Amino acid sequence: MNFHERQRRNGPVFQTHEKAHHEVLATEDWFGDGKPFIGKQFTAAKARERKVEIINLLYRAAKREQRDGNADIATRLELLADKLFYCQPDRRCGSLACPECSRAFQRAKVAAQRTTIRQLKVTRTGRLLVMVTIIPLMVTYKPEDLPVLKVQKLNRWLKDALKKAGFKRVMLGSIDLSWEDGFYQPHWHVAMWTAERERLKRRLKRIFPGLQRGDRPVHITETYSLEFLAYKDKAIKLPALLRNNRRGLPYLLLALDGTEPLELMVLSGVRLSAQKGSFKFKKIARR
Ligand SMILES: [Zn+2]
Repeated sequence: MNFHERQRRNGPVFQTHEKAHHEVLATEDWFGDGKPFIGKQFTAAKARERKVEIINLLYRAAKREQRDGNADIATRLELLADKLFYCQPDRRCGSLACPECSRAFQRAKVAAQRTTIRQLKVTRTGRLLVMVTIIPLMVTYKPEDLPVLKVQKLNRWLKDALKKAGFKRVMLGSIDLSWEDGFYQPHWHVAMWTAERERLKRRLKRIFPGLQRGDRPVHITETYSLEFLAYKDKAIKLPALLRNNRRGLPYLLLALDGTEPLELMVLSGVRLSAQKGSFKFKKIARR
């Protein structure tokens, strides 16, 4: 099987944003170190180092699965490792499992959001831009549940829940999967404006309740600059996972590989529009 055939069989299934996806991958600037800067732990060089580490992890996991008689999963892990290995300028793999490609998308998202937020801010005087964190405590995934994890479905669920509760404002959200020592906890970071922070929190808590005393399913953080955007769009904490969940990481990456990087976002009131070398958000006119 040649590389392109492998990519076709193993790449994300595009349903939306295909053009924007290709624009980002074709623009090598996103893989470099220009603006936006997303932190010194996330430079181009660090992404390349982590990629080598991940390729090795994937090959090792494939060998282990082969030894244990799981030929199917071994092949999938090996194909993913190959895909990352052959990812280079002009033929970027575009996989969320690839530290270089997922970083490129993260930076393109940050850049597009910075522009949109600055534009929208003008008409939102007196309102505070906050980062809302929503943790649906009843939705968790054990490592063996990863094959059924569908990011698009989870995002659709969040969007429907917010819409049903009457949220119509502009929201720029992104899903994040954290490892909680035994299970994965999907949660979202959503940038939005509010005039009444406490009321917003009460409204959100009614939709996303805690399960027991002390649970904090909703937090709202004030933003003082736009630096939070890189954190909001990280999708996974890769440096931490490489330390705390090395053995499990290959399987999480397999699950993420099936998701298009731009599908990680939950957008409300704006839509994504491809443009040369990138994409932007366009405000949806209210009817
Ligand atoms: Zn790649």
